[in-house]
Amino acid sequence: MPSRPQTPRFTDLAALRAQVALWRASGARVVLVPTMGALHRGHLALIAHARTLGERVVASIFVNPTQFGPGEDFARYPRDAAADLALLAQTGTDAAWMPEAATMYPPGFSTRIAVGGLADGLCGPFRPGHFSGVATVVVKLLNQVGPDVAVFGEKDFQQLRVIQQAAADLDHAVVIRGGPTVREADGLALSSRNRYLEPAEREVAPRLHAVLSQVAAEALAGAATAPVIARGLAALEAAGFAVQYLAVCDAGTLAPVARVAGPARVLAAAHLGRTRLIDNVAV
Ligand code: AMP
Repeated sequence: MPSRPQTPRFTDLAALRAQVALWRASGARVVLVPTMGALHRGHLALIAHARTLGERVVASIFVNPTQFGPGEDFARYPRDAAADLALLAQTGTDAAWMPEAATMYPPGFSTRIAVGGLADGLCGPFRPGHFSGVATVVVKLLNQVGPDVAVFGEKDFQQLRVIQQAAADLDHAVVIRGGPTVREADGLALSSRNRYLEPAEREVAPRLHAVLSQVAAEALAGAATAPVIARGLAALEAAGFAVQYLAVCDAGTLAPVARVAGPARVLAAAHLGRTRLIDNVAV
């Protein structure tokens, strides 16, 4: 493979802003892809999508402490900057924004975005403060990089909707775009957390997508959602999942729907052993 130029790594905000200002002055549109690193093909697909939306692509890598709850996996979250930078170079990413925690949250930092509505259901009750932490760090990233467009994965569908709403509510000029979920051949959505799965759990994990797809098909056929969800829950529990929620929701409001009448989404979160998996499919 021909060698690609390395992706410049920025840890200093003023230097990043100077680089972005130069690009903008030359007329380039700048696209941001926020990540927490441990990059996989899902992230790379978002970056490829970002390429189609502008001339310069910035990927951020920041494992954001404020979106992890007590007892969650912040400490053991996979971190491998060298591997991430090698992948970013392969994709031709123009800059990697990799702030230190002290750059993001200097002493005295005391502002947090409160998000309601879209953040109240689904993952919300199981991860108190999570979406507030996400919205706060994403708005900071948007203000730091100043992109024309930012791209997020549909894999985290509630997060995508919360960020779209926060950006709109706060009158941010950025355009928020979603990218489709990249899956393994057996249907398992790629995730940095899949590496936590024991081999036996990895074999069971694709059932989550299979059940979501089944629920979506039955809901699309016009069935009332309650019994369809009950069967899906039973199938997941029988396979060994500890389900937090399985829901059929309006794709815009994320409110549960009794019967599908417009764009909808089937969403679930479940533990397999100590690994928490989330996934969703369109109806
Ligand atoms: P993360 O590093 O897990 O915070 O994810 C960074 C971005 O990549 C988020 O916008 C995710 O929704 C997105 N993402 C994660 N997994 C996938 C996937 N399998 N397919 C597409 N996008 C993904």
